[in-house]
Amino acid sequence: MRIVFDKIGQSPKPFDLEVNGVALQGVLIKSGYHRVRLEGELKGATEVACDRCGELYQYDMSDSLRFTLSDEVIETEDDLDIIEFIDGVIDLEFIVQSEISSIKNSYHNCKSCEDDTEEFEKEF
Ligand SMILES: [Zn+2]
Repeated sequence: MRIVFDKIGQSPKPFDLEVNGVALQGVLIKSGYHRVRLEGELKGATEVACDRCGELYQYDMSDSLRFTLSDEVIETEDDLDIIEFIDGVIDLEFIVQSEISSIKNSYHNCKSCEDDTEEFEKEF
């Protein structure tokens, strides 16, 4: 789902999409000359591998997302929640994809390994 940056006004523009079983629902609101605020809710799960036992399991991705989108290059590193769309087109699929990849690339333990952790640590 792609939305032209200039088409977003002061009144919230709702959106709703799904990428690989993960849905993102929310609104886009113009918040400044080169800024659009995204407020949304992620819902769904993605398959990840446990870093301890290798077991594949569904990781629940349900979460609130708050981002600032900009159609110009951001020079400051102050706000890490800014996503740049230099071509002036907001690609919502890209946002969901990046959320999924950041989950896949982080460290996880499956339920049974998580429950195991306490005992595991006590032994040392
Ligand atoms: Zn595990």
